[in-house]
Amino acid sequence: PEKQPANIHTGIDNTLTMLNHKLKKAHINVIKKYQEDLPKPMIYISELNQVWTNLIDNAIDALEDAEHKNLEIQTKQDGSFVKINIVDSGKGIPDEVKDQIFDPFFTTKAIGKGTGLGLDIVQQIISQHNGTIDVDSKPGRTEFKICIPIA
Ligand code: ADP
Ligand code: MG
Repeated sequence: PEKQPANIHTGIDNTLTMLNHKLKKAHINVIKKYQEDLPKPMIYISELNQVWTNLIDNAIDALEDAEHKNLEIQTKQDGSFVKINIVDSGKGIPDEVKDQIFDPFFTTKAIGKGTGLGLDIVQQIISQHNGTIDVDSKPGRTEFKICIPIA
């Protein structure tokens, strides 16, 4: 498979459609803040869909006992990059595990609930795109920030 120019919003929307049942059942409000006419970066389409799936799945888990159940997806162009932020209003990532969340097999979830591979895979796919991923988190707000070069 080769990289091809693709619409990021189509990939995210397809992922949201696939997770629609889960999102509805969990009473999560999905808020899209998409930049119109976002440039199409060169991407591996199905790999990037895996990124959206893994991040949104984690957000769904984090929102389980939250008072406000919001999932916000923001996109924008910043110079020669496309930036995608996935923001949830869930419990947040404790400081003592922040350094480990991208490690393979690191999970805080019950046995059978998490493999601990989701973010490891996300990080590998983002680096295949020469991109970056960063996380900001406090109780009530966790933000995964992805940056992908357009060309
Ligand atoms: P898994 O989901 O199987 O546990 P991941 O690699 O996807 O594995 O995530 C690793 C860990 O990072 C999770 O177990 C959780 O502790 C933490 N985490 C990931 N995303 C979030 C989030 N949105 N909010 C709070 N914690 C998160
Ligand atoms: Mg996960």
